[in-house]
Amino acid sequence: MNQSIYNKAAFLLSAAELEQLPADRGKEVAFIGRSNAGKSSAINTITGIKGLARTSKTPGRTQFINLFAIDERNRLVDLPGYGYAKAPASVSQSWIKKVNQYLKTRRCLRGLILIMDIRHPLKEQDQRVIEWSVKCKLPIHILLTKADKLKQNPALGTLQQVKKAISQYGDLVTVQLFSSHDKTGLEEAYQKLNSWFAIP
Ligand code: GDP
Repeated sequence: MNQSIYNKAAFLLSAAELEQLPADRGKEVAFIGRSNAGKSSAINTITGIKGLARTSKTPGRTQFINLFAIDERNRLVDLPGYGYAKAPASVSQSWIKKVNQYLKTRRCLRGLILIMDIRHPLKEQDQRVIEWSVKCKLPIHILLTKADKLKQNPALGTLQQVKKAISQYGDLVTVQLFSSHDKTGLEEAYQKLNSWFAIP
């Protein structure tokens, strides 16, 4: 497999505003999800680089979009987490505006990796993100993270439940089990990323 290309990821820049993003060329895949769902851990596991995306004990602190270059043309994008209970309403409003704008206007965006804690799937804001993306015809791949926290049967049960809920969107929305702790689903995640980055 081609996972070695993700091992070359390097921090590119943090953008507070969409205007600060690099030129809209090449390909981007963005990671999004509720604070504490395991987004930073997933980025670190996929790239195999510990500490690339900061795993924070204070959810909701990262309010910037962070970009990581895989090579000269391709980038991974870490979008700010949502749903942090203590975040002021103004921050949530600004998050909604910015992320929606990014999803709507970023032409190099090939797909969205939606991170959901397997124990708390399909919260209201997750569903909103799915609806925004479907509206833009942007493919979404859901990682049900922390799969190691559940026994096999309950994990597969949640996977089926989410599959059923997203079946209305056809191939545009897909889902898999994932664990940064035991690397469950890592190969499947690489296959999806490779297909979006058009890596054979
Ligand atoms: P983020 O806020 O979405 O970026 O979440 P983090 O990646 O910082 O993870 C939040 C917490 O969940 C941390 O304490 C992680 O160690 C833990 N965590 C993340 N992924 C996993 C996983 O796959 N399995 C388990 N058991 N814990 C995880």
